[in-house]
Amino acid sequence: MSVARTVLLKVSDNQWLRANGTKLPFIRRAVSKFMPGESFDDMLGAATATAAEGIAAVFTRLGENVEDLTEADGVASHYLEVIDRIRASHIDCEPSIKLTQLGLDIDRELAYGHLRDLAVKCQETGNYLWIDMEQSPYVDITLTLTKRLREEFPRIGVCLQAYLFRTREDLEDITSRGIGVRLVKGAYNEPAAVAFPKKSDVDANYYALAQTMLGAGARAAGSRAVFGTHDLQLIQAIRTHAQVTGVQPAEFEIHMLYGIQKAAQLRLAQDGAQVRVLIAYGDYWFPWYMRRLAERPANVWFVAKSLFG
Ligand SMILES: Cc1cc2nc3c(=O)[nH]c(=O)nc-3n(C[C@H](O)[C@H](O)[C@H](O)COP(=O)(O)OP(=O)(O)OC[C@H]3O[C@@H](n4cnc5c(N)ncnc54)[C@H](O)[C@@H]3O)c2cc1C
Repeated sequence: MSVARTVLLKVSDNQWLRANGTKLPFIRRAVSKFMPGESFDDMLGAATATAAEGIAAVFTRLGENVEDLTEADGVASHYLEVIDRIRASHIDCEPSIKLTQLGLDIDRELAYGHLRDLAVKCQETGNYLWIDMEQSPYVDITLTLTKRLREEFPRIGVCLQAYLFRTREDLEDITSRGIGVRLVKGAYNEPAAVAFPKKSDVDANYYALAQTMLGAGARAAGSRAVFGTHDLQLIQAIRTHAQVTGVQPAEFEIHMLYGIQKAAQLRLAQDGAQVRVLIAYGDYWFPWYMRRLAERPANVWFVAKSLFG
């Protein structure tokens, strides 16, 4: 892992900066590259614009590690309300949530109750519920709650991270249950005991896992195959593998983050790929933004320019 990435990921965990970083004007200017704005309406405006370009959306209200019951209740109520607004707007836009935002650190059953309420709402409105994956200590509980939810609701998916050694086994279990998978490389600072330290190993594992997701077993179980990456070489390799093995472009999707590889998103959509863009909003964006910088330390240059801009 590069030094810059390690430093930025450590900064993302700093409690003082988490609370105060969003107040720094030059950082606020720089973050607009990745976020259309802090409100749900900003997100909906961006989703409407991308829909016109043939790209559907996933949305998330930023927040994590909520420590207060009232706040967790508020997050759940917010999602319940906006999922209704999504249906009213007729925009193809799917929610993606973090369990620690729904109160997982306070009380697992409380978080599960909120998660279940969101699954009910998604079912009523014809939507689909995505569950993000957080740091490695949360993987077991996230998958346990996802599998429990799947017993009642078919339209759910979870994020799995290719940097973790355990993901091969998790992927086989999750896909066999017909749960959707959004495969990503992984955004956190993980120890070498649980995750591949070398990027080339993460990339190779991603491609191997992608092949399983496109395999006959996962497809027969009805697992939705989503590749959450901006790695254009990897995307090309996956598309070629699909073509060679007779998997149709309609049978898998590519999801990217708002503001990253926009030209490639459009090219892929025009070329027949199913593309979605994940649009984030909310005022608690500091740790999330630091992870975006860590993914490409050259982005720090944008922050520096914003300092003077
Ligand atoms: C839809 C979606 C959902 C995600 N959900 C989760 C989640 O729930 N849990 C989790 O741990 N992680 C999540 N991630 C983040 C993911 O784990 C990676 O950190 C992130 O996608 C960067 O890895 P990459 O696959 O794009 O490949 P990389 O090899 O990191 O990047 C490939 C190329 O993409 C470009 N690029 C990548 N990131 C950036 C950036 N921030 N700014 C500018 N250019 C960039 C660069 O040109 C880079 O060379 C998600 C990512 C996406 C796209």
